[in-house]
Amino acid sequence: MKKKHTNYFTSPLNRRDFISSLALTTGAIALVGCNFNKQNGLAGEPEVRRITPPRLDTAYLGERIHCYRPMRRGTPNMSLETIADQLIVHNYGHGGSGWTLAPGSAKYVVQLAMDSEKGKAIKKDAPVVVIGAGVMGLFTAYELLQRGYTSVTVKAVSFDNLTSHNAGGLLAPVSMDNNPELQPLIDRIGIDAYRFYAEVAQGKHPHFPAGAKVMPAYFENRSESGLEPYVGKVMQPAKDVVLDFGNGTQRNMVSYDDGIFMDTAVMMESLKNHLQDKVTFEQGKVDNYASVSSLLIFDCSGLGAGALNADKEVVPVQGHLIMLRDQLPADLQSMILVYFSKAKTTSNQEVKRSFYIFPKQLPGSAANDVGVVGGTFIEGATPETPNNEEFDIMVSNARKFYGI
Ligand SMILES: Cc1cc2nc3c(=O)[nH]c(=O)nc-3n(C[C@H](O)[C@H](O)[C@H](O)COP(=O)(O)OP(=O)(O)OC[C@H]3O[C@@H](n4cnc5c(N)ncnc54)[C@H](O)[C@@H]3O)c2cc1C
Repeated sequence: MKKKHTNYFTSPLNRRDFISSLALTTGAIALVGCNFNKQNGLAGEPEVRRITPPRLDTAYLGERIHCYRPMRRGTPNMSLETIADQLIVHNYGHGGSGWTLAPGSAKYVVQLAMDSEKGKAIKKDAPVVVIGAGVMGLFTAYELLQRGYTSVTVKAVSFDNLTSHNAGGLLAPVSMDNNPELQPLIDRIGIDAYRFYAEVAQGKHPHFPAGAKVMPAYFENRSESGLEPYVGKVMQPAKDVVLDFGNGTQRNMVSYDDGIFMDTAVMMESLKNHLQDKVTFEQGKVDNYASVSSLLIFDCSGLGAGALNADKEVVPVQGHLIMLRDQLPADLQSMILVYFSKAKTTSNQEVKRSFYIFPKQLPGSAANDVGVVGGTFIEGATPETPNNEEFDIMVSNARKFYGI
């Protein structure tokens, strides 16, 4: 007998859901799987899936991480600029969707450069410099190699512990500010990226044997996922499901069963390893393009692009993450993202709070140290306004979500 049946605390159950829940909880038999269980409901009723909540007591919470999404208001900058005799190819400002878009975005900007008059005149063995060693920079360097460029240098202030390593890893175009006119392009790039990660996940990619997995991605509704444009092209339609946490709490959700999880720190390592003996890595800051001795420059400088290009539209979006430890990995084979209403932090900044959990794992960590809980979105927050109280709010919201 269930103790209670609640939908997520932002939206109460409607009558139909309530009746269906009664039918499911009294009439169906659980089929136990290794991660989630299925209950066969009445025809047309949502499938019930059993998910064991992660361990969220303090002893199971690991490192607390602040990290900053490089968002560009309006749209990411994926464009060409000519300065004197140099061709600058911008590829920055992807906000909370850098991983979701990176392989497609890299393909798009490299093609843009190759199709331009100036780009056509640059020989494939001429020096090309990529500024930035985050996911944008590394995928751009990778794409340049794929297109036959032989003298690629990746120059960056920092190569380690970047936003790109810390990011959660859900493939979904969220937390971006997109001009609606550019949405079709963003969708196209995302679909391209989905294909890339799907190849990695299926073990079919020639260069990256690991770093992405196919698994259910759960959202409260279809529109919040950002994935609807992918349906029918690379993804199957989402299903209505009921998540049953085995403790009396259930949530009505939608599931994209062919969601993609990118293990970001692992993939960054794979990218770097692949590029290691094929490109030159150089540490240093680029303050202006004239100081770079190359006619072809790819600007993948993330938040650094604000100063480098005097681009006032670039803004950090602060996120809070907590790594989990000593979990049961079999229970962490899906992704969840739900949003709450906006609120104010103690530093009086507007925060869009959410709860998300992904099976992220740091390279070299113990097998059971798996999982990351996030999420805040605080536009304009910097290390000077760490909003540390958000970590506890996040864990408390996560516990409420699971009813623990
Ligand atoms: C909490 C959080 C969770 C996230 N989760 C997801 C997710 O689940 N899915 C998803 O798709 N995305 C996610 N993201 C977004 C994603 O992480 C970013 O969009 C992406 O990492 C940005 O990559 P980047 O290469 O543009 O920037 P970065 O990783 O910040 O790299 C920038 C690089 O540029 C270099 N640089 C900067 N300025 C200069 C300069 N002047 N000269 C030389 N080098 C310079 C830096 O040293 C660095 O190497 C998340 C982000 C956060 C903060």
